[in-house]
Amino acid sequence: MSAVDTLALRIAEVRAAVARAAEAAGRTPESVTIVAVSKTFPRSAVDAVYGSGLRVFGESRVQEARDKYEVPLPGDAAIRMIGQLQTNKARQAVSLFSCIESVDRPALIAALDRAAAGSDLIMPVLVQVNVAREPQKSGCAPCDAEALVRAIQHSAHLRCDGLMTIAPLVADASDARPTFAGLRELRDALQQTLSIPLPVLSMGMSNDYGVAIAEGATHIRLGRAIFGSR
Ligand SMILES: *Cc1c(COP(=O)(O)O)cnc(C)c1O
Repeated sequence: MSAVDTLALRIAEVRAAVARAAEAAGRTPESVTIVAVSKTFPRSAVDAVYGSGLRVFGESRVQEARDKYEVPLPGDAAIRMIGQLQTNKARQAVSLFSCIESVDRPALIAALDRAAAGSDLIMPVLVQVNVAREPQKSGCAPCDAEALVRAIQHSAHLRCDGLMTIAPLVADASDARPTFAGLRELRDALQQTLSIPLPVLSMGMSNDYGVAIAEGATHIRLGRAIFGSR
């Protein structure tokens, strides 16, 4: 089988699994956006995935994304930033990405707001939460999420669309369920407290996206399940 056929087959399998998980949770397949995490994969692989019908990509490094998308993707494609972001890369990030999912500290909010103001746009962002409170992991502590969402609300050029988390690596995907449920509960609580919609829950990766969908994921971030092993 050719590389493109293999890719198309993997994507078809992922779509079927997403539809099964969504329906089992009483949700529609369209309520789940597949983010194809293309970090470390070349532009040719991104183009092949685009050719197979996916439109949303995820990258974790500004420099890599700048190089890879020097020739921009077609206008109906979007690239989301899912990796740690340094404040000095805020300006580039704002011009490259459709959403910054990894906002986890006040200094980054300030830098992104300035950068978005300079580009005269409203930048959608997510607050990344370290739900499982793993040391060394990026993301804010759950108790700090409210202050960050408020700070984004008070930033004229940013819009908070919701929350993102990375679950701990576990042998059994169902062990990630408390993390995903925790992010959803935190989102629900923030919507109540702040009286704002926070529709996006970005959670679930190649090994645990079925469980994430069951717990309400609107965006699943899939690298290996789509591109193959890195
Ligand atoms: C790499 C990465 C993914 C994708 O991981 P896979 O296990 O390849 O699906 C998802 N989210 C983030 C934040 C990542 O860095």
